[in-house]
Amino acid sequence: TGVQTCALPISHGHAVGDALLKQVSVRMREACGESDIVARLGGDEFAIICRFQDEAFDSATQLAERLLSLVRASYQIDEHIVQVGLSIGVAFMDGEVVDADQIMRHADIALYKAKSEGRNRYRIFEPKMEEVIRTNREIGAELKRALACDELDVFYQPVIDAATLEVRGMEALVRWPHKTRGMVSPGVFIPIAEEAGLIAQLGEWVMMRACRDAATWPPFVKVAVNVSPIQFSKGNLTATVARALKEAKLPSSRLELEVTESVLLTSDDNNIQTLHELHEMGVSIALDDFGTGYSSLSYLTAFPLDKIKIDKSFIDRMGTHTGALAIVSATTNLARAFNAISTAEGVETQEQFEMLRVAAVTQVQGYLFGKPMPAREWEFDGRKVRAKNQPPRAAAA
Ligand code: C2E
Ligand code: CA
Ligand code: CA
Repeated sequence: TGVQTCALPISHGHAVGDALLKQVSVRMREACGESDIVARLGGDEFAIICRFQDEAFDSATQLAERLLSLVRASYQIDEHIVQVGLSIGVAFMDGEVVDADQIMRHADIALYKAKSEGRNRYRIFEPKMEEVIRTNREIGAELKRALACDELDVFYQPVIDAATLEVRGMEALVRWPHKTRGMVSPGVFIPIAEEAGLIAQLGEWVMMRACRDAATWPPFVKVAVNVSPIQFSKGNLTATVARALKEAKLPSSRLELEVTESVLLTSDDNNIQTLHELHEMGVSIALDDFGTGYSSLSYLTAFPLDKIKIDKSFIDRMGTHTGALAIVSATTNLARAFNAISTAEGVETQEQFEMLRVAAVTQVQGYLFGKPMPAREWEFDGRKVRAKNQPPRAAAA
């Protein structure tokens, strides 16, 4: 027996939502066999219970694939054409698992895993998933405590003008020095903070701290702060930014917010609205990790764009893959057409830097110019920045 749970984000108003749910249910029924049970658990969650004769694993996999293709195809509701995404968690009831609660919990865990890997995926429950969830829950609880006890830190990485090597900005990157786990990477704890409902508080803390630090730097140096999509939906981002600037007495023109394109991909335009508000306040907007997501270029015209940050993966492949170099050049031209700055991320070698200069990228950032370090370890010298106790790098370029 298998249980499958699906989650369909619905975001088009109530009447459309209801009609959509009905049509989705019909398609789910179609994907299943006669004797299978399809149930709505509430909201946008469904359960499917089926009995497989043999090869349960293959049958469940096939059913998941069938559900994905059927449910994802577009729907017509009144004058709307609607699409939904779904995630599927699969769990089996066999000799070991006989309890209905347990199997639902397993299906939930698999669903959670599927969701965390992005939309439109399915995952089959494995016992080690429970372990990961337990660890994440622990980290979440510790993070909450660390936030309350002011134990997080912010490091800064310089953003350098490619032509003059002058410093243009510093990107704030949050750090968590953990007593037993060592330095925990934000790549690990940011998703946990998002999941645990801590990201608004964490983001606000970083914002305050970054503005305060930036107020001590020369006036031509901006500070860039990463903003999670969740800060747009939960927590009043515009108010938080205004408060941080005011408290630090930092002019809004010194602050840059880095957002990823997922911020722009919501069905309503509240986030776009927020970006406009922030921009009107004088804050700059940078599009982070450009080229890694859907890269549907139509959204570029919908919001005030000041900078495009070209993802490190393209910089890494530039030397070996002419396509990557072409993408870097094209993105630079695209940025220029929008009157925006282009910044190459993760520049590690002199060769990469040379290529980026030829491609006329505006700014560069990466270990070649400096790793992220605490504010106190950076020293501004005229229009340049250098690490204290270290000779300047890439100075000969
Ligand atoms: P990101 O915004 O793309 O930041 C760039 C990441 O690349 C940073 O990792 C930085 O340390 C690393 N990096 C910079 N130059 C190089 C290089 O030359 N080589 C290599 N190998 N790596 C380089 P970090 O600090 O671990 O941050 C990871 C991600 O966590 C960030 O990616 C960002 O998405 C997120 N993050 C960091 N701080 C915050 C924050 O305060 N708020 C939010 N929402 N996210 C944050
Ligand atoms: Ca960033
Ligand atoms: Ca990035």
